[in-house]
Amino acid sequence: MSTLTIIIGLLAGTAALTGLGVALRQWQRRAEEIAGLRQRQVDLVAENARLMRMVEYDDLTSARSRRYLRELFARTRQDGSNAMIFVDLDEFKSVNDGFGHRAGDGFLRRIAQALRNECREQETLFRHGGDEFCIYLQGVPLDAAAERARTFVQVVRDTSVDVSGVTVRRTASAGVARIDPKQDMMGALYYADEALYAAKQAGGNCVRVTEGETLRSMIARRTGPRAEDLAEALRREEITYYVQPIYDTRAGRAVGVEALIRWVRSDGDVVLPAKFIDMMTRSQHRNLSPPDSALVEVAQSFCPVNDQLYCAFNISAQMLERPVEDNMAFASALTRGLNPSQVVLELVESAAIRNPARAREVLQQFRAHGIRIALDDFGTGFSNLERLQDFEVDIVKIDRRFLRGLGMGQGDRGILRALHALSRDMGFALIAEGVETEQELQVLQEIGIHTAQGYLLGRPETVDYWQARINQPLAPGLCLRKTA
Ligand code: C2E
Ligand code: CA
Ligand code: CA
Repeated sequence: MSTLTIIIGLLAGTAALTGLGVALRQWQRRAEEIAGLRQRQVDLVAENARLMRMVEYDDLTSARSRRYLRELFARTRQDGSNAMIFVDLDEFKSVNDGFGHRAGDGFLRRIAQALRNECREQETLFRHGGDEFCIYLQGVPLDAAAERARTFVQVVRDTSVDVSGVTVRRTASAGVARIDPKQDMMGALYYADEALYAAKQAGGNCVRVTEGETLRSMIARRTGPRAEDLAEALRREEITYYVQPIYDTRAGRAVGVEALIRWVRSDGDVVLPAKFIDMMTRSQHRNLSPPDSALVEVAQSFCPVNDQLYCAFNISAQMLERPVEDNMAFASALTRGLNPSQVVLELVESAAIRNPARAREVLQQFRAHGIRIALDDFGTGFSNLERLQDFEVDIVKIDRRFLRGLGMGQGDRGILRALHALSRDMGFALIAEGVETEQELQVLQEIGIHTAQGYLLGRPETVDYWQARINQPLAPGLCLRKTA
């Protein structure tokens, strides 16, 4: 009994004491309630902290969450001295596929830990999703951020996990972007991701950086370039020609090369024609074509090396429509110093379809020069047999769709046989395009189609590359020629 109760009891007697006891018991209950509430408050604070951790951290890797970054980004002063690094593991999918998702998760946790350990005070690591991590750097110039990105890529390279006795390790690619003062977080991530895309395009395991100026062209690569990007590329002489060899697979030697246009960017990225050729050849953009001299250069690089070799060039509908004098000047330039039959112009049927009469006339003019004409992608468009006669083509290039699956119980053997017979009757040469496998090549050889082009035999590469190799014979396995 407390001193207070004794004193109260002494003063007021038992009856009064009983009334006071009730009050005291109520008092005690209230005290217990308050203590309970306090405990609840402590629990709520802990729960709140747990929830905050959940929203502020990624639950798999314990890197910071996107949400956290968004708030941090909004809180920090964007004055042009901050940067974003986007890191993506190369070939991460194969970890999941090869070792299972648990191993994949474990690997990501290790990587996150290693990256976080590498982070300095003004660097915040967060997980963007999947195998993508970002690092937000405050108060760093772009070149220092790029240096940091190289370190982070190295950290990934140096990190491994052991899965059932197998050491799993991956390389990484990174994109770095300076954060513009007016940018929000999404913008910053977008630009860093653009740079990352460039790193991946370059083969991965490297770092690419972007600043405002190169960005426009980087975006163009994804969405298709605009006319002014292409004009700029031409001005900077980034539009060039690669070549791909065409082989006689019986003799095992190259008979020609086809020039294939490429956009080689200043960062070394090579853009395929699918991204820009349509814009280039649309007639309203006449000034967007590379100069004829670029093609003449290719012809001059190969034909004099070997007078058995021809150079094939793709011509567009636009070329058919230009004034006769321009085409004749082009023909003269192309064939200067060469046997004119060393020049082949390849035309897709669709390019001639708008005005076949005009096409026939222009082709005749080229032929009169001694230049040979090839009908390209035969089998894709209308593939009108009359057209073969009409255009008096010298060569027909069979589209690769007829080759797919040959030797594997698929493919169009029947059509290929018929075309082969037709070529003999009508007197044109046949080239099989897009030969990728030895089975395809073997079937073509069985049918009697001995001229071929494709990745199996040689990929499109720079002029210098093929100039050094064009006279080398095909590997014995790829031709009918018997080795001595
Ligand atoms: P094309 O004239 O049919 O050129 C052959 C295309 O097939 C090239 O694509 C070549 O890289 C690709 N190729 C070669 N071997 C294989 C193979 O084994 N498998 C597969 N899947 N593909 C193979 P590229 O260089 O991307 O050119 C695409 C098209 O762009 C060309 O098709 C041509 O129509 C057009 N093109 C290229 N350069 C020029 C040019 O200078 N002027 C014009 N007007 N068009 C061009
Ligand atoms: Ca072609
Ligand atoms: Ca073709």
